[in-house]
Amino acid sequence: MAQEDKFKKLVAHCKEYGYVFPSSEIYDGLSAVYDYGQYGVELKNNIKKYWWDSMVLLNDNIVGLDSAIFMHPTIWKASGHVDAFNDPLIDNKDSKKRYRADVLIEEHLAKIDDKITKEVEKARERFGESFDEKKFRETNPRVLANQLKIDDLNTRFSKALNETDLVELKQIIIDNEIVCPISGTRNWTDVRQFNLMFSTEMGSTAEGANKIYLRPETAQGIFVNFLNVQKTGRMKIPFGIAQIGKAFRNEIVARQFIFRMREFEQMEMQFFVQPGTELEWFKKWKEVRMKWHQALGFGSENYRFHDHVKLAHYANAATDIEFKFPFGFKEVEGIHSRTDYDLKQHQEYSGKKMQYFDPEKGESYIPYVIETSIGVDRMFLQVISAAYHEEELKKEDGSTDIRVVLRLPSFLAPVKLAVMPLVKKDGLPEIAEKIVHDLKFDFNCQYDEKDSIGRRYRRQDAIGTPYCITIDHQTLEDKSVTIRYRDTMEQERVSIEQLKEIIKEKVSIQGLLKKL
Ligand code: ATP
Repeated sequence: MAQEDKFKKLVAHCKEYGYVFPSSEIYDGLSAVYDYGQYGVELKNNIKKYWWDSMVLLNDNIVGLDSAIFMHPTIWKASGHVDAFNDPLIDNKDSKKRYRADVLIEEHLAKIDDKITKEVEKARERFGESFDEKKFRETNPRVLANQLKIDDLNTRFSKALNETDLVELKQIIIDNEIVCPISGTRNWTDVRQFNLMFSTEMGSTAEGANKIYLRPETAQGIFVNFLNVQKTGRMKIPFGIAQIGKAFRNEIVARQFIFRMREFEQMEMQFFVQPGTELEWFKKWKEVRMKWHQALGFGSENYRFHDHVKLAHYANAATDIEFKFPFGFKEVEGIHSRTDYDLKQHQEYSGKKMQYFDPEKGESYIPYVIETSIGVDRMFLQVISAAYHEEELKKEDGSTDIRVVLRLPSFLAPVKLAVMPLVKKDGLPEIAEKIVHDLKFDFNCQYDEKDSIGRRYRRQDAIGTPYCITIDHQTLEDKSVTIRYRDTMEQERVSIEQLKEIIKEKVSIQGLLKKL
């Protein structure tokens, strides 16, 4: 299936099965804002638990925090967001569509890179076993010419970004003949800066009101509480503070479903370390975070690091973990070595010391910080796009049928087991209800008696339920039931008494955490 089609189907599936709805849908929706439905919220909560436990439960030097969304406006001045949290925007005068100038250029670079990849793949087919990719890349004239284009453009692009040279950004777009994907024309406006923070007013009267911002990241709540936590928790460096919460960004171009939203949720952890040790810790956290993703079993070939060439004003090293979404490799998580930038800024703007007294060294210093920052919604999209499968099944009469199944890791699945009486009589529903009643304290269970058993299985496959329990007439005789496995569709007969143990072992978070 073409990846674009897969993505469209995935979005439709999320809506049809109660995972994600467009926000305010009866009023025609609100751009780039989404609501999570009855299954979506369960999956989201499970993702958050996996992250939270891997940070706070598994590390005795990491603790949690839940800071407010509203914060003192000077925080955003100190952090640099008021002056520098901008995206360069450009409009096409014919289509009236708005773009991020940097994204237009990045997409152009990716297109040239695609040409190289195609050339390499063609050659690989032609030469077969004896193909030497490295040599080919170093000698093929077309590859070399395109690589030169990429290198030249990258140099010019990085310089323009670093110097915030908006005129040059527009010139790059013109010189490279980049067209609007909608109108196909090059009729561009000038590039302007656009601040991504939403603002509102706090206070009852307009004169007395204070302009405040909706936080664009949760990290600053951690920085300003750094000493509160350190002192009250008697934390010793190195230590970390983890937080999950909403963040808001007035994104210029919001698209690709929940990949880029205007209201979203982040899971961030700031790890405070001794100055000079930050790059070692950066390396360590890169490994730890990649392992966390890969433990879900979606295939290591679907992940890669993308090290930043252009570093943010606060960082001395940065990388993204990218996942292969149906629309290509894209960032799900950022890992940044933020130096002492933020704490130093807050010390300067607040006039309060942001230093840590190191008892071992007998001196005070402002710690350096490694940040791991992941979007809950992007992680959700990663999980659901990796889990979505359409399978062709052969029926007994020789015809084929399509089964849509969400192969969610069992711990993440919203419903762990569905309990189904084969028929609605002979005392079978009562047994099924009793099983649900006994197991609902341990797992999210669903009782389902409507439609044929085959259709009920399909319904559960579509929401990703890993186990279906069927009660039939044999149950009346020997207290056994069938357990049907979502992925293999195999069925096994087990006794009712065993159910709790069997399922517990399979769906518990411990299994997942032990892989880390
Ligand atoms: P991008 O380059 O995609 O705009 P970013 O580099 O600005 O992302 P960070 O500021 O590093 O992102 O934020 C950390 C994480 O928060 C990202 O890796 C992503 O998972 C998530 N995130 C950021 N912006 C959004 C958004 N608009 N919608 C959903 N998730 C987001």
